[in-house]
Formats: sequence, structure tokens, C-alpha cells
Amino acid sequence: MIAIAARRMGYRIHTLAPDADSPTSHVADLEYSAAYDDIDTVKRFADGVDVITLEFENVLTETVDAATTYAPVRPGGHVLYTAQNRLREKTWLHGHNFPVAPFRHITSIEELRSGVENLGTPAILKTAGFGYDGKGQVRIDTPDAVDDAYHELSGQEAVLETFIDFNREVSVVAARGLDGGFAHYGVVDNTHRNHILDVTISPADVSPTVYQEAIKITRGVLESLDVVGVMCVEFFLTRDDTLLINEIAPRVHNSGHFTIDACITSQFEQQVRAVCGLPLGSTAQPQPAAMANLLGDLWQNGEPNWPAMLAHTDVKLHLYGKKDARPARKMGHLTAKGDTSQAAAEKVMAARNALIMPTR
Ligand code: AMP
Repeated sequence: MIAIAARRMGYRIHTLAPDADSPTSHVADLEYSAAYDDIDTVKRFADGVDVITLEFENVLTETVDAATTYAPVRPGGHVLYTAQNRLREKTWLHGHNFPVAPFRHITSIEELRSGVENLGTPAILKTAGFGYDGKGQVRIDTPDAVDDAYHELSGQEAVLETFIDFNREVSVVAARGLDGGFAHYGVVDNTHRNHILDVTISPADVSPTVYQEAIKITRGVLESLDVVGVMCVEFFLTRDDTLLINEIAPRVHNSGHFTIDACITSQFEQQVRAVCGLPLGSTAQPQPAAMANLLGDLWQNGEPNWPAMLAHTDVKLHLYGKKDARPARKMGHLTAKGDTSQAAAEKVMAARNALIMPTR
């Protein structure tokens, strides 16, 4: 979707990804399929372009460093380094006075025992590296569950955090330009299913105080980290209206996908503008909107019912062109606009329900 936005603005696109036939390759001029640690190919790729950006933050530091010697990588290696490890991320956020749930660094069963004693239960144990969408997470409900939870880690470094009994999850997708300019898409409300984003509605129904605070925190994070590009800050909103940062993602984000159809400048065009050193575009959203994800599970009884979904004529279909529809894999999304964000959500959910084929 970044490549499509770049193409529309007249840019040529080269892409590098570990797998061949990646969605970006369908709209790119040149595709390199190489592992991220194939540094020779990374250098050849970087030598052929003017600027590099990423749609996935878990790219190795060596890869980013090698690319940076040929072309600017935006956001920079320091942003990726901080955001690709939960421990570094939480330590950085806490150290810069941004609100996060209480947490502990866990490297041994003893640390986990004392962490659970300190923080209490329920708590969540998360692997420090390479985690997203609830991958590498175990909930600890009672102190006797510590041993089992520790074994699930298989020796990986982890973070233990207090389980937050949140009212809802909200996020702010924002961008920072090369000149320090800042733009944001407001506060959106995210509903998850099995730890994976299911539906986003925009705007979220939050108080003006929460809204201002969420934007202020997001701006502070982008500025303190010196981000160039789009970044998403995901929050828990507690029952007493306190915001706690759950995660930061230094890239275009699933909770900003609605912007393609709903905003003057989509998060993808914004990313292109930011990393190319252009002025940021207007983030105005003339009407409330909603987005529903399409996961691979929808293919479990064969091809989903596209004609039935497309009969919902004011709902927009986005499919990423991924070949294998595996359960829990994000294959595409639907967006709709409405008089209220709830009305828009009802439209995308009805259209998504129409895709479900009966069990044969
Ligand atoms: P994550 O991969 O850390 O974004 O977590 C995925 C989802 O798990 C979140 O969106 C929440 O729904 C849930 N979750 C993660 N951490 C916590 C927590 N400390 N308290 C309550 N729910 C959590």
C-alpha cells in the first residue's frame, strides 16, 4: 500500500523481502528476494535507490546499518532498535516518562517468581524480541502458574507486566516529517479478537481530555525518538480514563488502514511524503469510518463469497495478493464510511459476515 501510494506520486519502487512474490513486488519495478542477512544483496538493493523505508520493524540491525551506507533509511536504525524489542521499548518509554504498565525484566525463573510476587496476578509474560499480535505471550493468573509460564519461554529473555483491566484499546497513527512537521489521524478505537486487531473505528468515542492527552503523548514519542515517517502508538485506556502505552510501531499500522478511503492523505501517502522529505499532507477525515480485517480463517471452507460481500456497495475491499490463506494471517481488510463510527462499523461487519461460506 506504501508502494501503490508512491507509484501514484510518480516514484519508481524497488523492494527487498525474504519471500519471492511479496505483495509489494506486484507493484514494484524491481524485486530482490533475499534473506535480511544476505548483506551483499541488501547493499545492491540500497545502492539502487534514493531512500529506503520499511513496513516491518523486525529487520536486523546489521541489515539496516549496511543499507544506511548507501541511502537514508527512514525511520532510522535507532528507532527500529528501540521498537523491535519489548524490553528496550518499555525501558525507553519509562525512562522518558511516558506512561506504561508496571513491568520487570525476566531472565531466570527466580526473577519471574519475585516479579510475580512484586507485580501480583494476573500478569502477562511476553518474550522480549520478535513479538506481535499476542505471539510469545502467556498470562499468569496465579503464583502456581509461574513454572509452566517460564517453560513456555524456552529460555528467551522476557518482560513481565501487570495485566491491565482496560476499558478499551485505542491508538494514534501519526507522522513526523524530515523538517520536524507533525500530523496525526486522531484517536481510533481498536477491538481485538485472539490478540489480533479485528475492527478499528474512527473517531474513537473518548473525552476531549483523553483525546488531547493521547495526541500529546504520541507527539512526544515521535519527537523524543526523532522518528521520520509514520508511527502508531497503541494505548490501553483504563476504567478511570488513564492512558498507558502498550506498544509503539514505527511504521504504517493496521489501525490506520481506514485512512486510504477516509482521509485526504492516507497513512501510506503520508509515509512516502515523510521519507521523501516532502511536506506532510492533510489528515482531515470528512466522515466517520471503520475498518474490519480479513484473516485467512475466512478461506477455511474455500474461496470466500466475494459477490455477496461486494453487494454491500459502499464497502471497499482491499486484498493484499498473498497466496496462502493461513488461519490468523492478515489477507486484506474492508473499510466503510458512515454518519457515525458505529454505523460504519456495522457496515464493515455486515459485509464481512457475507463472506463466510457455509461448512461443506
Ligand atoms: P501485544 O502483542 O503486546 O500488542 O498484545 C496483544 C494484545 O494482548 C493487546 O492488544 C491486548 O489486547 C492484550 N494485552 C497485551 N498486554 C496486556 C496487558 N498488560 N494487560 C491486558 N491485556 C494485554
